[in-house]
Amino acid sequence: MEPTEMTAFCLTKSSEPYWIQKLLEIRWPTGFCCPACGSRQAITITTRRLPLYECNSCGKQTSLISGTIMERSRTPIRLWMLAIYLHSLPKGITALRLAALIGTTYKTAWLICHKIRHAMAIAEQDELLKGIVRINFAQYGRPYNPTVFRHPQEQPLLIGATMNGNGEFTHIKIKQAVEECSYPQFTCPLNKHPFIHKHVDPNATEVIAITLKYSKDRNRHLLQISSCASGWINSTFKGIGAKHLQAYLDQYCYGYNMTRKITDRALDPFSHLIHLCSSTSATTYPELIRKPNIQPKLRVQYAYHLRSAS
Ligand SMILES: [Zn+2]
Repeated sequence: MEPTEMTAFCLTKSSEPYWIQKLLEIRWPTGFCCPACGSRQAITITTRRLPLYECNSCGKQTSLISGTIMERSRTPIRLWMLAIYLHSLPKGITALRLAALIGTTYKTAWLICHKIRHAMAIAEQDELLKGIVRINFAQYGRPYNPTVFRHPQEQPLLIGATMNGNGEFTHIKIKQAVEECSYPQFTCPLNKHPFIHKHVDPNATEVIAITLKYSKDRNRHLLQISSCASGWINSTFKGIGAKHLQAYLDQYCYGYNMTRKITDRALDPFSHLIHLCSSTSATTYPELIRKPNIQPKLRVQYAYHLRSAS
């Protein structure tokens, strides 16, 4: 289905039962399974807006959306599916545009977008970089440009990638690097480096990290990918501040990684994202806005250069 057809279909009220069935099949592909006791036997209560299952073994009632990012949402499933579909496309969508499309407030649309990004981020955090790994300092705020002065909007990043035998990056991660930049030059052992500790498999065969901003060894291919991520954030969202930047970087990486793994996946990108959204617990508006506002405090000379091949 083309994006315009899909949008029109989701906006049609009569499509709601179709999308409820679709969500049901993706959430429980082999039939209902009680999240409390694992029993597959349940009575279906169909008098509510969404199907409710009462477990025959433990009596727990489970709604189609409980335990998912959609929990407690009053937005129809067809509009959630449209939002998820639009996030599965490379271009993405702004909360402003989504609000206009599905007829909700900006706040509701913003929350839907961030809940979907949260599901992407949770999925990405579980998949570590492995094998041959390359890491490079990068920045958000303007294109890579080696001058000695920091732009006020600039955000230091680290981009890491798994590299295959053909020198192609098959899995990437881009993270805001404030904490990492706080290590004075050469004092942090490679295996204790926060980025590597959090995002690289301890059994990786080779890790090369270039964290000095203007190193002659900088990995230009990684810098290009990071520049594409910044370009996408700027063209689609007209720029993002430090507080929520990580969510957009995670969305970019999720899309990049999905396109390179699609042959390994049993599901198409849209169904895969529905699966993620139905297997990730909701995050709330207060949790999202309570995030600390990440501000880089340190200067470029604190960046450092580590290199290791083990
Ligand atoms: Zn049960």
